[in-house]
Amino acid sequence: MTHKPLLRSMVPAEFAALAAAAGVPAYRGRQLLAWLFKHGALSWDRMSNLPHSWRDLLSATYDLTGLHLQERQLAADRTRKYLFQLRDGHTIESVIIPMAGHITFCLSTQVGCAMACTFCATARGGLVRHLEAGEIIEQILHLRSDLAADPVPGQGNRQANVVFMGMGEPLDNWQAVARSLQTMMAEDGMAMSRRRIQISTSGPAAGLQRLIAASPGVGLTLSLGGSTDEERRKVMPVPGRTTLQEALQLAAKYGHQTGRRITIAWVLIEGQTDGLDQAARLAQLLTGRDFQVNLIPLNPLDDSRLEPSSERAVQDFQKVLTDAGVPTFIRASGGRDIAAACGQLRRRRQ
Ligand code: SF4
Repeated sequence: MTHKPLLRSMVPAEFAALAAAAGVPAYRGRQLLAWLFKHGALSWDRMSNLPHSWRDLLSATYDLTGLHLQERQLAADRTRKYLFQLRDGHTIESVIIPMAGHITFCLSTQVGCAMACTFCATARGGLVRHLEAGEIIEQILHLRSDLAADPVPGQGNRQANVVFMGMGEPLDNWQAVARSLQTMMAEDGMAMSRRRIQISTSGPAAGLQRLIAASPGVGLTLSLGGSTDEERRKVMPVPGRTTLQEALQLAAKYGHQTGRRITIAWVLIEGQTDGLDQAARLAQLLTGRDFQVNLIPLNPLDDSRLEPSSERAVQDFQKVLTDAGVPTFIRASGGRDIAAACGQLRRRRQ
């Protein structure tokens, strides 16, 4: 079944032409923009100041929504996980992660993923399809509206941070991710600060080169998976085709371009990525670069024997890095009690 285009896949700069083509004044285009991205309207009826005739015309040509909430889970640590069904029946996950002093929205960029990382539930079914920009943006709107209806105690009304760290490799779907970034950061879109946005990548060279060429100024997290090329290829077979040195050099180039420190994400898997020799090699790789490390103990999967490293092993690994002068933080994996690993809720549903 074919669907109408999603109206929210358009970027704010395209709305003046949309209004002109419909023969409505330019200010109507700005009103529509506000309904779509500022107020997050999920029904045509809410757009009460737009003429009925234009709303009818728009709804005959475009779909306003592409996501339908299928499941919402709440963890003991207040992490919230959402499963959305798309118009073609496929499903994606989004997460709200409450942290000390701020809230983070974790968004998906693809249905499935082609990167085949061994520690990831999303990898299991391979890549199904890319998300459209509108499907990426709409995740933010649903999460915002859920937060408004049920605020996280103590977090107030602060704007959330956004990380592209859910299902999919964002740099593998660059066209849609770049369009969603335009909408997120445009003054007449969502007016979000680039400081609040982070792209998390497994580091394929072509993707990093696209990011450098576009230079959107958002933050970058690079997941490494190994301290040598061989180790990396075992844990992250597809991204591992880019050598460690090349991935680090490209990330450093982007960091230099944006003036932002690059974060290295390191998933700690017992017996595979938590060796102190690996920590020492990682420290060596990062010496002299403006990088910091986030250590993330593995979220166990339903169908895998991979185990998270012990608390002691995590601390020992961190000590090697900090002793070498590399800023290193431990990021607790939220929502262990609610199928927290990326793609796990979707997989259980399937
Ligand atoms: S960890 Fe990220 S890049 Fe790797 S398979 Fe999972 S979603 Fe894809």
